[in-house]
Amino acid sequence: MTIDGKPVCKRCLLADFDVDGLYKKISELIDVMPQDVKADNELYQKRLDICKGCTALENGICKECGCFVELRAAAKKNYCPSVYKYWGSEE
Ligand code: SF4
Repeated sequence: MTIDGKPVCKRCLLADFDVDGLYKKISELIDVMPQDVKADNELYQKRLDICKGCTALENGICKECGCFVELRAAAKKNYCPSVYKYWGSEE
């Protein structure tokens, strides 16, 4: 499947296909998040790597909670909503 000529897979993050500028909007929300609230880049990428390998990820959305994973992973205090808590206990 493609959107705007870019390949889209179930396990894609919004950053991978950015339909209707949605990723841009999510990025803007992350950009204005206070630094003391925001996960550092290493932690953020580590969380997203876990999401990309998770069967609950579908088109950038976590099926466990309905969140955009890129937004959920950006806040330091957040955690994976799965009963297995795949990330969030690393801090
Ligand atoms: S269940 Fe956890 S690891 Fe899986 S997509 Fe949702 S937030 Fe990511």
